[in-house]
Amino acid sequence: MNTEPSVNFPVTCPKCRQEILAQLPIGSVADALISGKPVRLYAACHDVYWDAHHTEIEQLREYMGAPWRDYRADKSRA
Ligand SMILES: [Zn+2]
Repeated sequence: MNTEPSVNFPVTCPKCRQEILAQLPIGSVADALISGKPVRLYAACHDVYWDAHHTEIEQLREYMGAPWRDYRADKSRA
């Protein structure tokens, strides 16, 4: 069973501007933040995906803080 840890990150839906909580897989987001690849965000209310804007990436970095560094440490140990 794949139980990848996820983080709840508040995003603004580009369609209705409603703020919702997106469940993002910590591993994928951490990899994207580290490698500079686009971070894919998702709004369930309109079933829409988009790449995180610069401000959203900065928020994600702050939001994830310690957890994604721990994830990296776990990964390199495995
Ligand atoms: Zn929406």
